[in-house]
Amino acid sequence: MTADSGKSNGFPDWYQAGIGHVWLPYAQMKTVLPPLPVVATSGARIILADGRELIDGIASWWTACHGYNQPHIREAVARQLNQMPHVMFGGLAHEQALTLARRLAALLPGDLSRVFFSESGSVAVEVALKMAMQYWINRGAPQRRRFVSFKGGYHGDTAGAMAVCDPEVGMHGPLANLSPSHPVVDLPRDEATAHTLDRALERYSDDLAGIIVEPLVQGAGGMLFHAPDALRRLRALADKYELLLIFDEIFTGFGRTGTMFACEAAGVAPDIITLSKALTGGTLPLAATVATRKVFEAFWSDDPKKALMHGPTFMANALGCAAANASLDLFDSEPRIGQVAAIASALEQGLAPCRGLPGMKDVRVKGAIGVVEMDRIADLNALRAHFIAEGVFIRPFGNVIYLTPAFTIAPEELKTLTDAVVKVVRRLKT
Ligand code: PLP
Repeated sequence: MTADSGKSNGFPDWYQAGIGHVWLPYAQMKTVLPPLPVVATSGARIILADGRELIDGIASWWTACHGYNQPHIREAVARQLNQMPHVMFGGLAHEQALTLARRLAALLPGDLSRVFFSESGSVAVEVALKMAMQYWINRGAPQRRRFVSFKGGYHGDTAGAMAVCDPEVGMHGPLANLSPSHPVVDLPRDEATAHTLDRALERYSDDLAGIIVEPLVQGAGGMLFHAPDALRRLRALADKYELLLIFDEIFTGFGRTGTMFACEAAGVAPDIITLSKALTGGTLPLAATVATRKVFEAFWSDDPKKALMHGPTFMANALGCAAANASLDLFDSEPRIGQVAAIASALEQGLAPCRGLPGMKDVRVKGAIGVVEMDRIADLNALRAHFIAEGVFIRPFGNVIYLTPAFTIAPEELKTLTDAVVKVVRRLKT
């Protein structure tokens, strides 16, 4: 992208006037493709300023699970906007937040029952890490402040969250030395790796506060899957060494992997869970860190020093909570989990022709996540441009092309997405 990108290529005036003033996410600004000017979204479609419509393959970073502009969510947000867009959560409370907290506690497995609201996934992870560290301070073991995390893991971009990402595959390599160091180990995928982890936990356990993992699918670290058994092993090891188990379900929560929460597939519950992304159906920024009674009780005291000192300004924003309540209504009233199962079959079938193509490492599907992993992708920008030329918005990263569509996507739209992947990948190799 040059300083003049978009200035003389028919992009709208607002684009031309503003593009030189924004700093884009995860981008080398010098070489990044100029972003596409979007004027509207609807269902599984993104409408561009020049009238083109792209079928969206990734639902805005996995958030828009009911599709864009979902009428029930839009109406709930509009109602709340008229009544009260926001009020601070310190010293005040409101119906949408308390209703949402009650509903989340009822939906979540185990006795995850105390909801701490924030406004982004990374902050929800920061809160989870702080909760776990202070749990041990309050219980008289302040040296327990390190976390075991996993190769391929990604938990966000803020300082504490960065420190529990895999430094190799994560995006934070250049800043690695600035973060506290935590052991990053292999997931216990089988008996041998479980034994190695057991030994490592034995070695570190006096210093450890907990274990943090993305259950079933490690997203931004490469769309890597593991079996539910790994989560059962983690629960058993956390119990053995008295560690708090944190499940980061910011990507996997709300149906994405085929059950409402990924950990349900393993039949285990964590001590703390983090949620965001699809929490509001992708409409507004909101996140939640939910703790069990055991964790909460370690903070329950007459001593002010034992309180959790965190409180984002826009915590429990009323618009976000209204959107989240409306999103949960849709999970109650519409067959989302069935739609995810249908998407899984369509992804299996639609991506199958990629199997065996030259340069193909793996094709895998879990719930509404379809992944085509190449040995390498030489030119990500070129690949992204090919997809746009095919009328789809798909954003490969690293060596991975993936689809995480809205659960409400029409079968023909999903077929357009999988056909585009097959066509573009074939062309890459011929
Ligand atoms: N945790 C996981 C598993 C994620 O996938 C992400 C974002 O992709 C985050 C945390 C960070 O969320 P946010 O981008 O809202 O800060």
